[in-house]
Amino acid sequence: MKYNAIIMGLSLVLSACGSSSSGGGKKKVIKFSSLSMNPITLQKENTRCSSADLLEEEKIFTVTRLINKKPVEEIVNLQSFLQNNQLVDANKDLLNAHLYDVSKRRVLEVVYYDENSFDITTDIDEVDSAGLTNSVCADNMSYARNSYENVGLIVTNALTKTRSAITSLISDSIPSVSVSLTPLEYSKVKVTDVYGNVYQDEEGYRTNNAYYSPSEKALVFLPGSKEVEAAGIFEKPFWEIPMVASHEYGHHIFDTLYPNFEHSNMHQDILHDSCFDTRFNTNTEMMAVSEARTTERSDIVGGFNEGFADLMAQYTLSESENYLGDLNCFRKNREVKSPKFADGTIKKFNAKNIRLLFSSKEYETSSCNKANIQEIHHMGAVFAHVTDAIQSSYGLTNTEKLQNILTWIKALNEDENLNLMGGRDYFENSMRKFVKIMHKNYGNINDDIIRDYLSGVSI
Ligand SMILES: [Zn+2]
Repeated sequence: MKYNAIIMGLSLVLSACGSSSSGGGKKKVIKFSSLSMNPITLQKENTRCSSADLLEEEKIFTVTRLINKKPVEEIVNLQSFLQNNQLVDANKDLLNAHLYDVSKRRVLEVVYYDENSFDITTDIDEVDSAGLTNSVCADNMSYARNSYENVGLIVTNALTKTRSAITSLISDSIPSVSVSLTPLEYSKVKVTDVYGNVYQDEEGYRTNNAYYSPSEKALVFLPGSKEVEAAGIFEKPFWEIPMVASHEYGHHIFDTLYPNFEHSNMHQDILHDSCFDTRFNTNTEMMAVSEARTTERSDIVGGFNEGFADLMAQYTLSESENYLGDLNCFRKNREVKSPKFADGTIKKFNAKNIRLLFSSKEYETSSCNKANIQEIHHMGAVFAHVTDAIQSSYGLTNTEKLQNILTWIKALNEDENLNLMGGRDYFENSMRKFVKIMHKNYGNINDDIIRDYLSGVSI
């Protein structure tokens, strides 16, 4: 099957932390999260459990997770999640599966004919092992830090908090999700042209990240890798940070409350990219790599989705649970309260940022140490900070802020015209909807603050 690269291309924008692609001319690059041949999975501690049904009494577990930069031992009671010792809830409201030892293979080979068309010559997507159900056992009320039991408990704990805070405010039913811990996801991507030029050829297991898969309604925590461990760049595993689990669940909420947004590309369910890119780029110049960029509605929705997910974690977890790791640039970039990116770029929708967001020049994908609002996580970081700061100016609580953001996302879903608009109109109308909610609930008293944060937007 031949695809038109201009329309569908590999210029992919994915809903769930996905963004892939791009580059000028034929240098089409499909990015997975970092690939490694040396993934480090967790260990199952209790493969057998002699206390078959001990969990009808109140049982509490001691778990280890990161709170304010440090691994802290805490007691959690997840009684309702421990049906027959399995880490799924009886009613399947939150979790319908909690898996480990999943193994998958994804092979994608693409051949370009010219700038505008390509063939996908190989497209393998197989599950080699569907995984085992993660369970905890009353034989053992405290587990090793890197065990599936410990991680299963802390992830479930964060998800429980986020879900209950959200469902206390809305009547919509939220489908259950599955959790997959350190799956082995082998990926191979090869992009060539008919002349034999190779633009991309990489393979390995996807590591050091987390993502949400909309098609499977799955929260996935990828394994660590020996390379990253040895480099000591980001030594804190994502599953230990409560905010990460809540962020991924935030994508699930976005997807559930905004079904009228149509994803625009064929790969949305295949190429889930990183939610938490912490890579450094030594070249911090902003390099234009293409001059025919159009900001599509899906680009803006991708940014809203990321910012929304950060806000869901921010408003449903405690301050100490929202700790973002100790990598300075990553923390500043993604902390909702931080008014600037690590490189000093101001988080406002001012004229400069808006110009870049809708520029016909595409700039090289950002890295942790260089802000680029064309990248969905950075656009999302601006959205999250802007809406949070405006709401803070009225002295709102986290619950009130959460309520307003949920109202806003539902308003986007309900507006049929909005969901047909091009990128810029979509963006401006969406931000106007936010301002309208502020005006309706709190009047015009802080319009000067709104104008400051949205100075590049006609509102
Ligand atoms: Zn994300």
